[in-house]
Amino acid sequence: MHLNEIIEMDRKYYMNTFGNRAPVCFERGEGMYLWDIEGKRYTDLLAGIAVSALGHSHPALVQAITDQASKFIHCSSLYYIESQAKLAGLIVENSCADKVFFANSGAEANEGAIKLARLYYRKKGLPEKFEIITLEKSFHGRTLATLAATGQEKYQKNYSPLTPKFLSVPINDLDALEKAITPYTCAVMLEPIQGESGVNPTTYDYMHGVRELCNQKDVLLIFDEVQCGLGRTGKLFGYQHYGVEPDIFTLAKALAGGFPIGALCAKDFVASAFEPGDHGSTFGGNPLACRAGYAVLSTILNEKLCENSESMGQYFMDSLNGLKKENSMILEVRGKGLMIGVELSKPVAKTVNAKCLEQGFLVGSVGESIIRLLPPLIIAKQDIDAFIPVFRDILAQEELHS
Ligand SMILES: *Cc1c(COP(=O)(O)O)cnc(C)c1O
Repeated sequence: MHLNEIIEMDRKYYMNTFGNRAPVCFERGEGMYLWDIEGKRYTDLLAGIAVSALGHSHPALVQAITDQASKFIHCSSLYYIESQAKLAGLIVENSCADKVFFANSGAEANEGAIKLARLYYRKKGLPEKFEIITLEKSFHGRTLATLAATGQEKYQKNYSPLTPKFLSVPINDLDALEKAITPYTCAVMLEPIQGESGVNPTTYDYMHGVRELCNQKDVLLIFDEVQCGLGRTGKLFGYQHYGVEPDIFTLAKALAGGFPIGALCAKDFVASAFEPGDHGSTFGGNPLACRAGYAVLSTILNEKLCENSESMGQYFMDSLNGLKKENSMILEVRGKGLMIGVELSKPVAKTVNAKCLEQGFLVGSVGESIIRLLPPLIIAKQDIDAFIPVFRDILAQEELHS
């Protein structure tokens, strides 16, 4: 089909939650590249929003999925599943968690975290502890409970009444958090590095303060690692930058490299609150998703992609900071590893994004003035070197014309 026909069909049949999408339809990918249906090649610096950690069509992932699909795809968690046990083991052996439960998305993993935290206190004889404190500008998903957790009114406003007993406080403000904690507080839930709102890291002192407050006041600490986890920030998990461990954390996006999966991970003392019948999922942890997840996580570990994320992230940010020196369009470059936000001095992020696309580079934009870069963890210097002069020219044009 031609692009115009696809667009026409989409307008006719698909719910319009994405507005005018970028006018491109991809057909295949390999490594850092995607090709559209007209044969034009793009360098992917967004990875489907931090999902395609191994790039496109990585042989280990393709092999795992095709092999598993040819054997069987699904059987239900009524039965033991080898790849489910193996992926849970690989996560546990490489993190602070003792137990894992698989879901199908980030929101669903977060729902599980919220349920687990509430159940933990209920079973402890403290059923009044049900309030969850999150951060402003956070993003935890689109279900009714995770929307309530998401500290951004624009996502919430049309869906009231939301699930009650969530409130949010400003990021990196320990006093505000301390004031918000009451005997009814069950958990603090936060992203070590906020993604959706434009790459906003928590500070080292704040994270230590949060952990301490949670210990003092008997409150669980939940980290949403859906975006910042799995090597994205140069370490396997975002929390490892801080030397602070959560009681519960969640994963999704990159875990199976594009195959839908989410993971709820917890220390034993909390995880044991889930007893038979307390939680479940039809698709969650199915053989195909877990084979894919195992292939991705073992590749991240074996191919030292966290290390690559750290060094290429540094190189990318250094290069962008080089541009910042010569162009007043860049206000700030921030992030960790390959989770990078570029704050522009003018509200032209959408135009810059569209021009990058025209020039064959996929980037993300947040709001009016932030460009977000979340490339595959396999990115090499040459990919960054190819992008920087293109980005420089686009910014220079915008500086003149806007
Ligand atoms: C994307 C994201 C989610 C939601 O994940 P879905 O798979 O879209 O439900 C939750 N938390 C964070 C931090 C995210 O970036």
